Amino acid sequence: MHLPDFLIDRYKEWKENIFPKKQELLKLLVRNGQKPKAMIISCCDSRVNTSNIFSAIEGDFFEHRNIANLVPPFESNNENGTLSAIEYAIKVLKVRNLLICGHSSCGGIKHAYDYFSNKKTDRNLYIDKWIDVIKPAFNQIQNTKDVTEGQKSLEQLSIINSITNLNNSKLIKDAILNKNLNVFGLWFNISTGSLFVYNQENNNFEKINY
Ligand SMILES: [Zn+2]
Repeated sequence: MHLPDFLIDRYKEWKENIFPKKQELLKLLVRNGQKPKAMIISCCDSRVNTSNIFSAIEGDFFEHRNIANLVPPFESNNENGTLSAIEYAIKVLKVRNLLICGHSSCGGIKHAYDYFSNKKTDRNLYIDKWIDVIKPAFNQIQNTKDVTEGQKSLEQLSIINSITNLNNSKLIKDAILNKNLNVFGLWFNISTGSLFVYNQENNNFEKINY
């Protein structure tokens, strides 16, 4: 079994043209260890590349991806990958910024929206259990007949719900109290490239203007 040609070709391109320019940085990062400036939790969606959006280089971000960029409640024991990544980022790497980045046209959120709207209860897919995390957000959606609006609303409410789950954990609470951590919610519009930041004071996602 061989790797597909497109992967070999892209690796060759990277190794020959990009790696030489990065080698010193990478050696330094190996010697000194990583000290990422932020942890970013984003969706698995191939159209969302937070490293690109923030022009990141190696060592900048500690990244975690899952379906629909969710943070489960810390007391839940059905999913440890996301929580252990957060724990490592806070306790060991001592990141100062934790970002949850959601996005438009999110397939995971769409699945949750359809699932809960149709009052489904079957658990045929792994995702049917995973989206339990989104249920509290779905319950907050204002009545709307416009499915697109409803899904967008769920994309954003789910980010707020994940922030609530973070804030309810002792680990995060202590880090924020000790002024060692800032938590941000972001929503990215894929089509326009616009990025929105959650403002806890007015409960809105505000477009970043610069
Ligand atoms: Zn998504």
